[in-house]
Amino acid sequence: MKRILVFPAILMAGLAAAQQQPAKPAPAVTRYLRCGALLQPESGKIQRNVLVTVQGERITEVREGAGAPAGAPAIDLSDRTCLPGLIDTHTHVLLQGDITAADYDEQLLKQSTAYRAILATRSVRRALEYGFTTIRDLETEGAGYADVDLKKAINNGVVPGPRMRVATRAMDVTGAYPLQGYSWEISVPHGVQVVDGPEDGRKAVREQISNGADWIKVYSDRSYFVRPDGVLDDIPTFTLDELRAIVDEAHRQHHKVASHAMALNGVHNSVEAGVDSIEHGNYIADADIKTMAQKGIFYVPTIYVGEYVAQGRAAAGAKVWLDMIRIHEETFRRALNGGVKIAFGTDAGGFDWAINPAKEFPYMVKYGMTPAQAIRSATTMAAELLGMQNEVGSIAPGKYADIVAVKGDPLADVDVLEHIDFVMKGGEVYKSPQR
Ligand SMILES: [Zn+2]
Repeated sequence: MKRILVFPAILMAGLAAAQQQPAKPAPAVTRYLRCGALLQPESGKIQRNVLVTVQGERITEVREGAGAPAGAPAIDLSDRTCLPGLIDTHTHVLLQGDITAADYDEQLLKQSTAYRAILATRSVRRALEYGFTTIRDLETEGAGYADVDLKKAINNGVVPGPRMRVATRAMDVTGAYPLQGYSWEISVPHGVQVVDGPEDGRKAVREQISNGADWIKVYSDRSYFVRPDGVLDDIPTFTLDELRAIVDEAHRQHHKVASHAMALNGVHNSVEAGVDSIEHGNYIADADIKTMAQKGIFYVPTIYVGEYVAQGRAAAGAKVWLDMIRIHEETFRRALNGGVKIAFGTDAGGFDWAINPAKEFPYMVKYGMTPAQAIRSATTMAAELLGMQNEVGSIAPGKYADIVAVKGDPLADVDVLEHIDFVMKGGEVYKSPQR
């Protein structure tokens, strides 16, 4: 069992505060962390024997070779490597794994939103314990605006979890998104808000933002198949006009757009419409890679989940998911060489939250990144995608004290990131090594 340093009394105090006022001010307690090694992702350099001073929820000082002031006990991480709290830019905390359509349908048909939200409190707690102190949750899969409520509960100290950026309901066109395949006489729920036409798109953006969406998410393609020349083709969902209207309306309100786009046309239309991130991107044409690099459109590849669902989906008759793994690797290498900004994202929730999303790191390295690049993608790069580069992503004065620690050297072996055993978020310790 892992030891969680959240005491019931603190939780109760959090509850009381949440009932009385919207946010509780963090106590301005001073804490010291003694890190045997400290990894700065931006430079890819390791500093030795570093003292990190934390006041309240922020870092105030980072000093090499310094000791804590006399009489002030430091959290001893002298046998560990400290690094900034990790950021997963593609999660679904309200989903608990969906290898097959049946897994997905069951969650939408047999579980109430209230029950799914209760399960999601476990997902966010797990994310935090794995070392992910910030996540961008890319839609609730039919659970409405429950992500907004969960984010509020975390911010109010009601339940432990990462900092969240949420996308709420997401959008797709009629006939493109589950649940599908039921009798036409039965109306079933959908995992997204169904939107047709540019004006509907604008209205949905306005609605979602007014209900608390930080990000807008669109599904840009479906029905994947490999052409004889090896290109992964698709049926695009939205027309370019529809996508442009959605992106324009979101940007007009200073919100960004994430596009689920796995293949040729979905990616191309999204890039043309000016979205801010391409999610999955199993196949991206060379011309679109060039445009992404030029315009600074991020690529969030989510590699591990592809392997996770492939066997199950192939067994259910969709062999294309096995081909997509190979195509994905080739695309990742071209995007990396083409200078596209790549942010770490896993699609956790698309696989069971009992699996540590840090499994993505070794795949990124296997596909051509250095460990330092992979770690940067989950810290400074991810922070930039979220527009949070002044708040999180590095251990520096002024930033939130979101700090994790692990035994071993992640630059030599990224696999160790699956074994993070110290987690601090906003100056509060949520997980400590067993001593
Ligand atoms: Zn997803």
